[in-house]
Amino acid sequence: MKLQDIKDLNLTGKKVFIRCDFNVPVDEYQNITDDRRIKSALNTIRYCLDNDCAIIIASHFGRPKDGFEDKFSLNPVAKRLHKLLDEDVKLAPNVICNETIAMANELKSGEIMLLENMRFEKGETKNDPQLSQTLADMADFYINDAFGVSHRAHASVEGIAQHFDTEHKAAGFLLAREIKFFYHIIEEPKRPFVSIVGGSKVSGKLEALYNLVPKVDKIIIGGGMAFTFLKALGYEIGNSLVEDDLMPEALKIMEEAKKLGVKFYLPVDVIAAQEFNSESIAKETTIQEIPADWMGLDIGPASSILFEQVLEDANTILWNGPMGVYEMDKFAKGSTKLSHVVAKSLATTVVGGGDTADLVRRTGDEDEMTFISTGGGASLELIEGKVLPGVKALIVE
Ligand code: AMP
Repeated sequence: MKLQDIKDLNLTGKKVFIRCDFNVPVDEYQNITDDRRIKSALNTIRYCLDNDCAIIIASHFGRPKDGFEDKFSLNPVAKRLHKLLDEDVKLAPNVICNETIAMANELKSGEIMLLENMRFEKGETKNDPQLSQTLADMADFYINDAFGVSHRAHASVEGIAQHFDTEHKAAGFLLAREIKFFYHIIEEPKRPFVSIVGGSKVSGKLEALYNLVPKVDKIIIGGGMAFTFLKALGYEIGNSLVEDDLMPEALKIMEEAKKLGVKFYLPVDVIAAQEFNSESIAKETTIQEIPADWMGLDIGPASSILFEQVLEDANTILWNGPMGVYEMDKFAKGSTKLSHVVAKSLATTVVGGGDTADLVRRTGDEDEMTFISTGGGASLELIEGKVLPGVKALIVE
């Protein structure tokens, strides 16, 4: 899969519409608490500035319900963008209104304008053709750099791209990088290819598991989802998280792995607690001996050693989902140890999913990973083998 490259476009001095993902976390006073998503879009914006483009940027932010709402305004983003770029950023009064369209028409080369929160327009999430046409009419070129929403067929992501031919649209640098790492690693991995899948539930990752099993050499399952597999194998898992209705699917996945010669690993011990809270008494136990009214909230030390051994010869590691309730210190050890093991591996290491990305930041291993994806849902859909709607329109071969 090759995406239209921004560097192949003849966009010097032209008007460019860039869809970014500036859906950043803010505190109760609207202060941005983590501006990584804004920083990661700067390459594409600077490239367009260097090419004397007039730049119109669009993004969504939170989930406004009914049109303009002050607390969902992109005003804090406009200010941060101004600070990071050291360039003026004009915030439009809304997404599309006469004033916004006039601003876009008058925008000169080297100037930057930010549309208000795309989700103030009802038509955005409905992929309204009228809205995408109006947005497309604002510019000569369309660049998608919003990996985090590329799995959504929204007006400023998918609909708008239909209004530009291949010489007038492309993937931004961030989107291209995300696709390069996720798509190519899954399709052409250096082997042995080991996938680590964790997190709370099997249900959210079922399709990903079905797509991964035929592609990997080894698979490690941890986190809450492991208990559905363990129970399906006949273990007593006490009060641990389980999806009884998915036990047949869990067995099917394990049978498929066996048939294909994929090595399938589950935890051999857990940190169990009586209650789901950080004050609860906890103890290490093998999976054979989880007491009836206790629950497994992290993998145990023996599982950490086992998983380290499994990863020893890996040349590609794809990790999505924590090994336990890493938000509570008491149940974070398994995920933390695994993070250090993945970080020191010489394999290509790709981390996806909001929680896992958050985890490797907490453990200080962020810089040691080859690539950390910015989009949780979108990266999961890539692992599921789907072509994302926002990416499809940019594929050249
Ligand atoms: P997901 O969104 O499915 O990737 O799941 C991430 C969440 O799974 C995190 O918030 C963890 O706290 C949670 N989690 C991981 N292991 C367990 C477990 N053994 N029991 C309950 N929740 C867990």
